[in-house]
Amino acid sequence: MEAGHKSVTIIGAGLCGSLLAVLLKRQGFDVSLLERRADPRIAPPVAGRSINLALSARGIRALQHAGVFPLVDKLLMPMRGRVIHSEDGATELQRYGQRSDEQIYSVSRGELNRILIEASEERGIEVRFGQEARGFDDSGQGIRVTDHTKGSDWTCSDAPVIAADGAGSAIRRALDDAAGITATETLLPHGYKELCIPPGPGGRHLLDPRGLHIWPRGGFMLIALPNPGGDFTLTLFLPNEGRESFASLESEAAVEAFFLRHFADVVPLIPGLAGSFLANPVGILGTVRCGGWHDRGRRLLIGDAAHAIVPFHGQGMNLAFEDCVVLDEAIRTGKDWETVFATFEEQQLPNANAIADMALENYVEMRDTVRDPKYKLRKELSFELERRLPNRFIPRYSMVMFHDEIPYAVAQERGAVQESLLADLVRDAQTLDEIDLSEAEARARSALPHLAGNRNP
Ligand code: FAD
Repeated sequence: MEAGHKSVTIIGAGLCGSLLAVLLKRQGFDVSLLERRADPRIAPPVAGRSINLALSARGIRALQHAGVFPLVDKLLMPMRGRVIHSEDGATELQRYGQRSDEQIYSVSRGELNRILIEASEERGIEVRFGQEARGFDDSGQGIRVTDHTKGSDWTCSDAPVIAADGAGSAIRRALDDAAGITATETLLPHGYKELCIPPGPGGRHLLDPRGLHIWPRGGFMLIALPNPGGDFTLTLFLPNEGRESFASLESEAAVEAFFLRHFADVVPLIPGLAGSFLANPVGILGTVRCGGWHDRGRRLLIGDAAHAIVPFHGQGMNLAFEDCVVLDEAIRTGKDWETVFATFEEQQLPNANAIADMALENYVEMRDTVRDPKYKLRKELSFELERRLPNRFIPRYSMVMFHDEIPYAVAQERGAVQESLLADLVRDAQTLDEIDLSEAEARARSALPHLAGNRNP
């Protein structure tokens, strides 16, 4: 599509909106970026947002595509697997993949967002902070915006508007009323709370910094991601109500007893644990699904605004970044905005639905299944099958995290075939030696078509 001097307004200068701005500017559009918050480079971080995120192949590819990856690369902390902490204090590393490059990376949300906003400004994009989109104006054509810097409202009449205003998107809610995009917002009955393990003497990490730590406890879990400054961000995922829940942890004594009961090894590493716990907010978790993402060629939803997912596969940001690349490519080849938005939706909607499902499933895997010896055997067998059939059998976790060339929907479909095969093969076995690997290979070969163009060597 010819950009000419056409303008595009993006609402939300979060991770998705600011990356998209860089890409659209490169195509020659006149981009303006409206953001509700004050400039994050000046204002303190918003409480309750996750502090660090896991970045993987799809996100890295998008950052490379935009030419900003070298700025981000230096912030990354590689994590090669899950470090499982048992109740008795024992730990075990479970590798994510079997090749040394199959790792994911912890990155600071704030730093990443700052880099992307600065990259937008350096390319001549006007980022207007303190501008909150409220929905459509009375004519239904413009977007009502409150300018918090002036305390007044104005109407944004530009078209198109691309809404990257996150999971609680005001534009999605307005479109749902006006254009019938049939959005559903499903809250998980679990929430999350963040805590911190500060650096030890000399700034060293007090846990192994090369892994994502998990304390799986069945109905809930604690996780920790390393930060470059020697600290870890901890996140407790817990039911909101019930016997062991956020509602039941309302006093210092209750918090201390809960942590000593379930996470005794980590208690000495968190100074002022109960005080921080009670002071920090409980975040909400949910899934947003829509029947459509656009209103002809006028408005489009993207990122979490279109498809918020629970964080248990570490993919929300990665998917939002993938969206930016898909939209960038659709613009290059599309003839007008309506066709571009339709192409984007057609390609990404099935993928967003697939990763939304897989993210929900992964909560059960992380908080519970990882402790099951049969889970470990299935994982060992899946690595063996991948070695034997690298172009047919790729573990589902690896397809999602390390193979950005494989769409999420394909990963989900093939993953289901693989999972039932694995469950069958390990049913009567306790170790890999007890499985007929030639037969397993033959069955995998016949159940799974050749996966052309995948990145396995
Ligand atoms: P957001 O990052 O939410 O950005 C939206 C922006 O729009 C914000 O700047 C906001 O201020 C602005 N805005 C909102 N409303 C308005 C308005 N009305 N007008 C103007 N501006 C507005 N993803 C991963 O890939 N890996 C992870 O490890 C991971 N961990 C997570 C852990 C937790 C606890 C949570 C909650 C999420 C996690 N995610 C993870 C998901 C990830 O945070 C989101 O998918 C990602 O932030 C989506 O980016 P976005 O730009 O679409 O939305």
